[in-house]
Amino acid sequence: MSEQRYTVSLPSVEELKALASGRWFDILIAAGIDADKLNGKGHPCPKCGGRDRFAAFPNINGRGAVHCRHCFTRGCDPSPGDGIASLQWILGLDFRATLGWLADWLGVKNENDRRAPRPIARRTVSSNRIVNCEPPEPKIDFDDLAKQFFCEMSRERRESLAKRLQVEPRTLVRLRVGYSEADQATTWPMVDSGGRCIGLRLRGHCKPDGTGGDKWSYRGGRGGLFVPDGIATSINRLFICEGPTDAAALLSIGLPAIGRPSCQGAMPATVNFVRRIGCHDVAIVADHDEAGQNGATRLARLLVTVANTVRIITPGNPGDDARKFVADGGTPFDFDAMLADADALMLAIRRSVPNPKRSMEDN
Ligand SMILES: [Zn+2]
Repeated sequence: MSEQRYTVSLPSVEELKALASGRWFDILIAAGIDADKLNGKGHPCPKCGGRDRFAAFPNINGRGAVHCRHCFTRGCDPSPGDGIASLQWILGLDFRATLGWLADWLGVKNENDRRAPRPIARRTVSSNRIVNCEPPEPKIDFDDLAKQFFCEMSRERRESLAKRLQVEPRTLVRLRVGYSEADQATTWPMVDSGGRCIGLRLRGHCKPDGTGGDKWSYRGGRGGLFVPDGIATSINRLFICEGPTDAAALLSIGLPAIGRPSCQGAMPATVNFVRRIGCHDVAIVADHDEAGQNGATRLARLLVTVANTVRIITPGNPGDDARKFVADGGTPFDFDAMLADADALMLAIRRSVPNPKRSMEDN
């Protein structure tokens, strides 16, 4: 019984399974699998996309077993069979960390299990310079660091953060948001266009309305993209937001979204990412300010080389961001309407119509 050594500070695997039985539906949703995918066979995989390669086994709520014939099947490590394997696969954690995550979700995590605090990250000013290529590989294993912080983020803390930001808690799971006790900050992993973690954004305590809170970068890392799990190669449209919380807001209303580190940041990585997933319809979600608009225009000029349709939208009122717009009740239909307006604008620019007002002639 090799699993016995994991029982020092966590309940045993059998106890966790007993506690989780009958709750797997909610647990897997919390881990980032959409509810409608947990209903029988033939769905796109939340990890690798496709059309119908993902399925939930019978008695999903009792056992929690799921299967993807492309990325989670016999011969994979872990291989499918129960809810813990499903969690390990969707969260991308090792066995022990997965048990920790589950124990936390179930509310039975032992506080002594928390790791020793890490050195406090030095506050650095993030670079907004545009470079021609993506940044070189950082010396720190940020993938590992991000996973550790992710495991330190308690369910309670995640739900409280989600409430303040007015986003769905599971979008924070999909973005792998963690917590650093040493820094007293939430951690937001940034990845390169291939999905490898190259840096962490840290975010201090925010106000009850989700605004405020210091932002800085973890020492030794680079700026990258905020990419949720489950942005698969099969999506028809991608929204590219300024910052991770705007992306979380769009994800909360079901729109596929990623975040950039700033209005001018990670442009090569963004273009490479869009090329890699093969998405031909992209919408840049820009802030109202001049820097936001300029950054969006520059990005649009780069994106037209890899996508057929590139549009810029600016939700809400001046001074607001996309998160505020969604928090105030913005829906996917509102985003559709904005895209239609952006279409009309692009068409007008292309045809060089000065101003199609008839009233001048009529008078
Ligand atoms: Zn898959």
